[in-house]
Amino acid sequence: MEERYDIAIVGSGPAGLSAALNAKIRNKKFIVFGHKNLTNKLVKAPKVNNYLGFFGMTGENLKDKFEAHLNAMDIEVTTERINSIYAMGDYFALMANDKTYEAKSIILATGVEYTRPIKGEEQYLGKGVGYCATCDAPLYKGKTVTIIGHNKEAEEEASFVSELAELVYYIPMYKGPYNLNGSIEVIEDKPEEIVGDLKAKKLILKNRELETDGIFVLKDSISPGQLVPGLKIEDNHIGVDRLMRTNIPGCFAAGDCVGKPYQYIKSAGEGNIAALSAAQYLDQIKSN
Ligand code: FAD
Repeated sequence: MEERYDIAIVGSGPAGLSAALNAKIRNKKFIVFGHKNLTNKLVKAPKVNNYLGFFGMTGENLKDKFEAHLNAMDIEVTTERINSIYAMGDYFALMANDKTYEAKSIILATGVEYTRPIKGEEQYLGKGVGYCATCDAPLYKGKTVTIIGHNKEAEEEASFVSELAELVYYIPMYKGPYNLNGSIEVIEDKPEEIVGDLKAKKLILKNRELETDGIFVLKDSISPGQLVPGLKIEDNHIGVDRLMRTNIPGCFAAGDCVGKPYQYIKSAGEGNIAALSAAQYLDQIKSN
């Protein structure tokens, strides 16, 4: 286990990165979890004209600028996905695939997932439906597993599961080519509904149905309510005050995950506030 951090930042979009550089300026011991591309929402933007000081950039250009800024300040992104976070009283435990991290405070900057849950996904979550295939793979030894992959990273998880499961179906939500273990059956079709009784048993696709023992939906981000049990959600976003404080002491949030408008500069501004609020919180708990 790593040493306990002052701040763990979950998300490497403009909100998380802005929080990170302010945490660095405040001399805090912090870690940023995120994506190797920083955020896919940056890479995909054809033209960005509303980020102060950077007219006419492509998202890719802006990503390069962000990377240069991180390098100049010696900030690294840990490309690890956080699957759940537990408030333990005076610290938070953050669970990654095979590691646990600890931090005195956290900043959630996870963005929003534009994809709606499939019918039945929320109903069967934890009952045959999961969001971390590598975590739960041992439960499916010798069984049939279906993986709905929203990004290339899901392929690695699918290949890992295929080493334990009897049969793995992979339903990509993006265009190929796919880099998967040969035993995996790729099905290019649209998932419509998860059905079952006490547990999920079947995935209904537009053109066929799959009997399955488990279904993993692997997206860029997990809904914040699932990520942090007990977190107050308001209108599908994390509830925060003007200091980016959530209902859980020591837990702050910033960016798209706290609400609209979904914009880079608003996310970066909120990341700044969240880091300053976290620094103030750390000072407070130190003096108590
Ligand atoms: P995100 O950018 O979504 O970043 C969140 C990051 O956290 C992601 O990398 C994700 O992988 C990571 N993450 C999530 N959960 C976890 C976890 N559990 N563990 C580890 N990492 C995790 N806005 C503008 O202002 N101007 C524009 O021109 C513009 N153009 C756009 C074009 C497109 C095509 C799209 C999709 C969006 C555009 N936007 C634009 C909106 C903008 O992309 C978002 O508002 C902005 O990226 C939000 O930043 P964020 O930091 O809140 O979240």
